[in-house]
Amino acid sequence: MPYGDILGQESCLTVLRRSLAKRKTAHAYLFEGIEGCGKRKTAIAFIEAVFCGRDEGCGQCSSCLRIAQSQHPDLQMIEPDGAFIKIDQIRELQKNLSFRPYEAPRKACIIDAVDRLNPAAGNALLKTLEEPPGNALIILLTAHVGAVLPTILSRCQRLHFPALPQTAVEEFLVGRDYPPETARIAATLAGGSLKKALDISADEALAERKNLLVRIDSLTTREMSPLFSAAEELAGDKEKALEMLDLLATYLRDVLLMRGGSPEIVNSDLLSLIVRNASRFSLDDIMTRIGNVFEARHALQRNVNPRLALEVLFMRLAEQ
Ligand SMILES: [Zn+2]
Repeated sequence: MPYGDILGQESCLTVLRRSLAKRKTAHAYLFEGIEGCGKRKTAIAFIEAVFCGRDEGCGQCSSCLRIAQSQHPDLQMIEPDGAFIKIDQIRELQKNLSFRPYEAPRKACIIDAVDRLNPAAGNALLKTLEEPPGNALIILLTAHVGAVLPTILSRCQRLHFPALPQTAVEEFLVGRDYPPETARIAATLAGGSLKKALDISADEALAERKNLLVRIDSLTTREMSPLFSAAEELAGDKEKALEMLDLLATYLRDVLLMRGGSPEIVNSDLLSLIVRNASRFSLDDIMTRIGNVFEARHALQRNVNPRLALEVLFMRLAEQ
């Protein structure tokens, strides 16, 4: 994959390009940045360039094609097996890296979610980083740099991948023929992650989001069973529940903006609902509701029983 296929991330690409042009690549890199901002794509493009023997991978030779399909014998990809990356995976990596490359100029590996090494695997990887076999190229990826062992961090060249600008994500989606309104909503909600923007742009995801917001809006304390069943349903998947709370916060922010007379809302496909609630609630009411959503979000992050946290939230939203 040529670098040109990567959205944004120019400064990281420049660092990598230069290091390759000067033949001064580090033996280990750590790419850090939110999920879906291009770390993995960049790692693959960089290894293509290294193997292809040019400034940039051509994307067409047999080496580049096999790298793109994860079938190159000199490139190993590691990701968590279940919740963690385990010692056996690192041992196998050490063994592979100890052989001479089959055909590439050097052996390479990409370790995704390096924040999820279990302790034994972490110590084993540390040894590999201290005494890298041959001139192996090791690229570690993480969206949670705070959870990576400091001893591992200190042995890598770190590259920070910033969240992608909203306008770049929106333009990308429009360029891929998504309707402009979908592109704008998805780019705003995605928080700089192209992957998340693409997920949100999927037809079903947008419709699901709309249904969910309409459903939450219709909850009332006069009828408790829909309220409890909504909480129970959403509590099953914590990640999804957190996403839903983010959605709800963006939506309430729109209600707030509308109430204050600003037309710059994100969820333009929910205009009638937003207008109705903007006239129904006072500014204080809306602020209180936003506060309730953030409180529920914190509770979920602190591992409070998710069902309880959502029931409390929905009751507060319904009684106002
Ligand atoms: Zn090539």
